[in-house]
Amino acid sequence: MIYGIFSDIHANLSALEAVENSMAEHGVERRVCLGDLVGYCADVEECVQLTAKISDICVMGNHDSVAVKRESSMHFNQYARYVIEWTQQNLSESAINYLKSLAYMVEEGDICFVHASPKSPADWYYIASLDEAMDAFEFFTTKYCFVGHTHNPVIVALDDGFPQVIEEDFYQVQGSERLLINVGSVGQPRDRDARASWCLFDSEKETIRIVRVEYDISITQKNMRKRDFPIFLIKRLAEGR
Ligand code: ZN
Repeated sequence: MIYGIFSDIHANLSALEAVENSMAEHGVERRVCLGDLVGYCADVEECVQLTAKISDICVMGNHDSVAVKRESSMHFNQYARYVIEWTQQNLSESAINYLKSLAYMVEEGDICFVHASPKSPADWYYIASLDEAMDAFEFFTTKYCFVGHTHNPVIVALDDGFPQVIEEDFYQVQGSERLLINVGSVGQPRDRDARASWCLFDSEKETIRIVRVEYDISITQKNMRKRDFPIFLIKRLAEGR
C-alpha cells in the first residue's frame, strides 16, 4: 500500500491543495491526516471539507480539540488564541461535527497514527528530542508510528534498543527495527523550509520519504490579512518558522 501521510494543515488551503496534487502525482493510494486541520491560517471551512473528502483516516489535533471547544485555549500563545477564537465562530455545523468525530489514535495493521505522541494522545506531548522519542517508543506496539505536532519532519529508527536519527529525507527500513516518523507540517513548516511537508510511505517496500512541495504562500497570506490576523503569523509562513 502506498500511503500519503500529512499533518498540521492549519487552515492553509493553498498548501493543502499543493500537497494533494503531489500525493496524486506520487500514486498515493491511502491518505492519512494526522490532525490540526485548523488554527493559524484563515481557510478553515475549505480545509476541513477538503481533508474530510480526501482522507481515508484522520485523527484529532490539539487545535481541532480547542476549535470544537472540547478543551480551552489556555495553553495557546496570544496569536494562536486569537485565531482559534475566530475559527470557533467561522466553522459550519458540519465541519464542527466532523472534527468532533475524530479519534485520538488509529491503528492499522503494523502502523499507528496519532497527532502528538502515542503517550497519552489527548495530552499532546511534544516529541522534540531523542529522549522524548525513546520514551514515545514505549507507548506503541506497532512497527511504525506516524506523528505530527512539532511541525519538524524527522525519521527515528530504533534497532535493538539503539535509536538513530535519519538525516536524509529518504529511508529504506532495515530488518526488524521500529520507526517513529514525524511527517512535518502542510500549512506552517517550522524547519526554516517554507515548503509544505508530507510523507510518502510504501508499506510493502518499507520505504519512507519526506516530500516537500512549493505552494503559493501569498494566497494564504492575503486571506489572513483580510481577516486582520496577527502579522507575526502572516510573516512566519514565508520564513518557514
Ligand atoms: Zn500544529
